[in-house]
Amino acid sequence: MSQILSEVLAANAEYVANFGDKGQLALPPARHFAILTCMDARLDPAKYAGLSEGDAHVIRNAGGRASDDAIRSLVISYKLLGTREWFVIHHTDCGMELFSNEIMGNLLASSLKTATIDANGWHDSGVGEGSGEGRYIQWLTIPQREQSVVEDVKRIRNHPLVPNDIPIYGYIYDCKTGRLVEVPEATEAGRSA
Ligand code: ZN
Repeated sequence: MSQILSEVLAANAEYVANFGDKGQLALPPARHFAILTCMDARLDPAKYAGLSEGDAHVIRNAGGRASDDAIRSLVISYKLLGTREWFVIHHTDCGMELFSNEIMGNLLASSLKTATIDANGWHDSGVGEGSGEGRYIQWLTIPQREQSVVEDVKRIRNHPLVPNDIPIYGYIYDCKTGRLVEVPEATEAGRSA
């Protein structure tokens, strides 16, 4: 068994031992809201937004972007599970600011090993087979932080399956302080009608 696997299973055994009455929680989120945010390991939405089990939906992907799949989850979140307010939360120092579709396509075409980055940019070992498939994927990178929040809030706001009475708030999490900083243009664009 890998060390990670045994650590995770040990942590889970501890969690189960202290699970308390959480088995009684209802399926719909009790506080009726959802957060779309980045998968970055430094971000813990339960802590930065004060969530307990059963409180809210948290949808995560690379960048916290409003991808088709993120929107799929948000639509389920309101239509079947009753959320009434949504947050789009990107963050400072996001890895999605560090590459472009072209760079990613080239790295994957070079090999499927983990790439490295230094002052001169990304480098690939070139060891082993790569694949050109990466050139067909829209990686939803982040050239400008505030703008990506605005774009994502607007995309969700204008989506035909999203009702106009759900407010969408746009924020950037500051990795240096833990603070959520509003992107006023995004929140304005996400205003409910
Ligand atoms: Zn990120």
